[in-house]
Amino acid sequence: MRSVRQCSRTACGRPAVATLTYVYADSTAVLGPLAQHAEPHSYDLCVPHAERLTAPRGWEVVRLLPEFEPLAPSRDDLLALADAVREAGRAPEPVVAPGVPEPAALADAPRRGHLRVLRGAGADVGEGTV
Ligand SMILES: [Zn+2]
Repeated sequence: MRSVRQCSRTACGRPAVATLTYVYADSTAVLGPLAQHAEPHSYDLCVPHAERLTAPRGWEVVRLLPEFEPLAPSRDDLLALADAVREAGRAPEPVVAPGVPEPAALADAPRRGHLRVLRGAGADVGEGTV
């Protein structure tokens, strides 16, 4: 039984260390400690995604944590950072799209299943590993 939750960003399999909660009434995105339970307007984020988080226009980001404690040892943390750097160089996607956030789309998207579906639609790929 795995208790470690994964980052909710699409195609990101890193362990989550923080929870982002959208407070629509205040146009505020609160980044705090990993929540005990998944909630409708909250999303788990890994270290790189939490650090790269930016608020949409008109929104404010409130960070309740000065820095994040990785669940993994320092070596994995370095690997995660290396991944983030590679990821940033390859696909400079904004962490939060400018304009109105679309939390519903994120919530509904299965983390890895989404990719599998795309693959499965074409020819049967024998190797499913990354
Ligand atoms: Zn992530």
